[in-house]
Amino acid sequence: MHIEFLGTAGYHPCENRHTTCIYLPDATPQSGFVLDAGSGLFRLIGRDLPSQLHIFMSHAHLDHSGGLTFLLDVLHGKNCTITVYGNALTLHAVTQTLFGLPLFPVEFRFRTHVVEAGVPFEVDGVQIEAFALTHPGGSMGYRFHWPQKDTSAASSTRSSTSQFSVPQPSGAKSLAYVTDTVGDGLYLDHIRDVDVLIHERNFADNLQDVALLTGHCSSSDVANVARETRPGQLLLMHFNPLPDSDPALEDDLAEEFPDAVFTRDNQIIEF
Ligand SMILES: [Zn+2]
Ligand SMILES: [Zn+2]
Repeated sequence: MHIEFLGTAGYHPCENRHTTCIYLPDATPQSGFVLDAGSGLFRLIGRDLPSQLHIFMSHAHLDHSGGLTFLLDVLHGKNCTITVYGNALTLHAVTQTLFGLPLFPVEFRFRTHVVEAGVPFEVDGVQIEAFALTHPGGSMGYRFHWPQKDTSAASSTRSSTSQFSVPQPSGAKSLAYVTDTVGDGLYLDHIRDVDVLIHERNFADNLQDVALLTGHCSSSDVANVARETRPGQLLLMHFNPLPDSDPALEDDLAEEFPDAVFTRDNQIIEF
């Protein structure tokens, strides 16, 4: 299974990063998963797609939802069904406001699935739990659990930019996706011992005051989360898109967690 980082910036795009969008092209044998739909979603335009894309929304802030308006081009000439998941507030904002006049000329015409925190659901055999995060307007984290052997090897060639020949590992796997949160620890029980934790790290510690103001994490916040929950792999994203900033060099999170990955746009990680 592969994790493609299509957009790793928060707030706004910059020269080398688009806003938040993560793609699991072979999440199941028949479908791909998309985590949030920031401007990075444009990178799916022209790609081969599975027959179904399931798009999981953390919340409706534009750096997570604006890319949904690119779906018309993403789907051009494709036979792919889209389902958008999110809580009722997020789905209302997307379907009624983002895809409504005067913001966008075409009405929302995709499937939706309302997600409630604490109510597990299943998509193509993957068990999913959502949990609330502290952020202005609210945000939602997700934990995905693949209970059985990964049979997606045959489908890994769907991605036009993915060329992997490594045998797929077997056994249960789990992945948690946490973005746009102050890192207050209220969600730690939901992500404990996860194989892969994708977590925001919007600000270095020198901008701790801005992190609090905007409802985001500093490096120290993320370090506290990682110390408590011990993920198998820590993948950081949703970076402050200041020009010339290099998140990995900004502070000492990388020293305490040398295996943490400060992801880049177009980076692909196998798990
Ligand atoms: Zn954001
Ligand atoms: Zn936000």
